[in-house]
Amino acid sequence: MSLRIDSLLIHGGTDGDETTGAVTVPIYQTSTYRQNGLGETRGWEYSRTGNPTRAALEKLIAELEQGEYGFAFASGLAAINTVLSLFKAGDRLVISDNIYGGTFRLLNNVFNNLGITYEIVDTSDASLIEKALDDSVKAVYIESPANPLLTVTDIAAAAEAAHRHGKLLIVDNTFLTPYLQRPLALGADIVLHSATKYLGGHSDTISGLAVVKDRELAERLYYLQNAIGGVLSPFDSFLVIRGIKTLGVRMDRHVWNAGQIAGWLEQSGYVKKVYYPGLESDPGYELQKKQADGAGAMISFELDDKYDYRRFFKELKLVTLAESLGGVESLVCHPATMTHAAIPEDIRRRVGITDELIRLSVGIEDAGDLIEDIRQAIEASAKG
Ligand SMILES: *Cc1c(COP(=O)(O)O)cnc(C)c1O
Repeated sequence: MSLRIDSLLIHGGTDGDETTGAVTVPIYQTSTYRQNGLGETRGWEYSRTGNPTRAALEKLIAELEQGEYGFAFASGLAAINTVLSLFKAGDRLVISDNIYGGTFRLLNNVFNNLGITYEIVDTSDASLIEKALDDSVKAVYIESPANPLLTVTDIAAAAEAAHRHGKLLIVDNTFLTPYLQRPLALGADIVLHSATKYLGGHSDTISGLAVVKDRELAERLYYLQNAIGGVLSPFDSFLVIRGIKTLGVRMDRHVWNAGQIAGWLEQSGYVKKVYYPGLESDPGYELQKKQADGAGAMISFELDDKYDYRRFFKELKLVTLAESLGGVESLVCHPATMTHAAIPEDIRRRVGITDELIRLSVGIEDAGDLIEDIRQAIEASAKG
């Protein structure tokens, strides 16, 4: 029976435990496995190489992303690091002009030193991607909507452009999750996640995932996952599986709340600009509607000059000032000094990450309470 996503979230992958009938996947807290004789294993040898709890999560995320092979890592960046290790000195990547600050730091300060370089492109314009694809480029790396300006990139168009030139398309799908967007079905080759965010959903684990369809690519990634060793622990694998069970109901509420807040902000008179692809006024609105099942729950905005953004962060009572996103609780951050501080100031300015920019991860609290908190914090931060 082929299940729809709401059922797959709960019964996909390895549904419970064959041996005991337990309805949840057990935490196999073991480093190694008994071998009956030389070369006689029961399929498990050593938990870096493979662990049943991790394998259950890997199978689950592969099914959710409509891929074939899933990989779980100790963080989103460990997943990204492993995927970037597919490349070698002399290779170049074309990357979106706004991506997660930690991804940029890894490329700029680690892989750059190893001779793997990058070129920043406004990937929301597919013709600019195509223009950048010379021989040395091996892959296009995007987020959509991108962090923190929520710019939407046409994933199918990016895949076509990449494939016309024999390059890979890598998509970080953290902001939407497979519940709202399935990049592999749109033509991407590799999907990445920080499962720390919506998939885990409760701000209680650091974890990362990768999914591919292609067998040869999967074999290379599996080799790198084991060789590099940044694997997800059995306990954290359990937490992510548990989080995924409620992903659908959480995302529905996240997205509904975000729509309420973005709509309110836009007409409030308090802001200069709201970035949210669920708003009809947003340049990404039509494309977002076409390629995803919702606009997600990340909103960025700039307050009107009458208000002091530093003060605003202090005045919030319900919304928490913290790094991260995608948990049940609403979080707010200041990209220029927090999530995107690793991006040099000139690049930050050029791509539009201003000092005034505020990024909100809308949780699943009561939308009215959230609006009331944001309203009172803005009022309290009026200058002079
Ligand atoms: C948080 C995040 C990452 C990094 O994931 P960690 O789990 O923190 O290592 C990568 N991409 C995006 C879009 C993120 O939000």
